[in-house]
Amino acid sequence: MDKKSTKRDFTILDIHSHPNVIGGVPPVMKCMLSAKKYLDARWKGKSGQGTFEDLIAEFPPVETMVNDLVNNRVKSTPVAWDAETATGEPPCSNDFVAKITKEHPEAFLGGWGSVDPWKGQKALQEAERCCKKLNLIGLKFQQASQRFRVNDKQFYPLWDLCQQLHMPVQFHCGFTGLGSGGMGGDGIYTLSFTRPIDIDEVAADFPHLKIIALHASEPWPWEANMIAMHKRNVVRETSGMLPRYFPENMVYEMNRRLQDKFLFGSEWGYLPLEQIISQWEELDLRPGVMEKVMFKNAISFLGEEFERVRADLSPWKRNLEEV
Ligand SMILES: [Zn+2]
Repeated sequence: MDKKSTKRDFTILDIHSHPNVIGGVPPVMKCMLSAKKYLDARWKGKSGQGTFEDLIAEFPPVETMVNDLVNNRVKSTPVAWDAETATGEPPCSNDFVAKITKEHPEAFLGGWGSVDPWKGQKALQEAERCCKKLNLIGLKFQQASQRFRVNDKQFYPLWDLCQQLHMPVQFHCGFTGLGSGGMGGDGIYTLSFTRPIDIDEVAADFPHLKIIALHASEPWPWEANMIAMHKRNVVRETSGMLPRYFPENMVYEMNRRLQDKFLFGSEWGYLPLEQIISQWEELDLRPGVMEKVMFKNAISFLGEEFERVRADLSPWKRNLEEV
């Protein structure tokens, strides 16, 4: 049944990974702890009590992430995460993401910042710092954990600023494994905050803001497809789910009308990289589509930003010249 793995002749460009490593703890550990206990009832951690601290102590060093990416021939762009107002937990900081991406060019092309939209003026200042001081590519938002709607007008100054700074944004779309199976979603708020149609309005109101609609967008994958088709400034992304479970209409349009509009994301930190890559090889994709999703579309959509952060695109030089 398993297709023989074909030898890949390109480096994968990953636009969404989580540095869930020492120093990069995400602001959703309370619900990650309940998920851990739910999935592995025998886990008790080092203390034998299965505490918050036990789970954090199990985070690997950054070198584990770096080696995994290098061994799988992937260059990634990790994301920071600030959801402090809603979860009460400290962020995976922009400084941390900026630091590891700078220190490990062998694995990283650059990184994505994150600001907590509820921090108002401070969020705006931090967004500007991410661009001008930390040299990050853009900003990533996770509306369910941050508890906000992207088309809520009180957050429009943030999109206005991102548009002015040429900072693309990543918006979470659809189902999230976070809080899954927990009572009331374990504090990870309503899935309706992640509905793609909200993004359509932002894309229309900020036509020069580049938007990456993350994940499979379930239960609204078709909605996400139509928005990416209608708005030139919106693309889709593939992380958050093993390829074997991709919704049919996502793969259908990836092969057809949206073959220039899907970017690869790995979700490193939550999903095993090797398994993701081998399942991509099992997808029934038309010739050339894999290369588009795995690096070409990202380079063409984010070319200007990669240039701004001086990302080293040499791993794709030969592939791009062949076209
Ligand atoms: Zn993610």
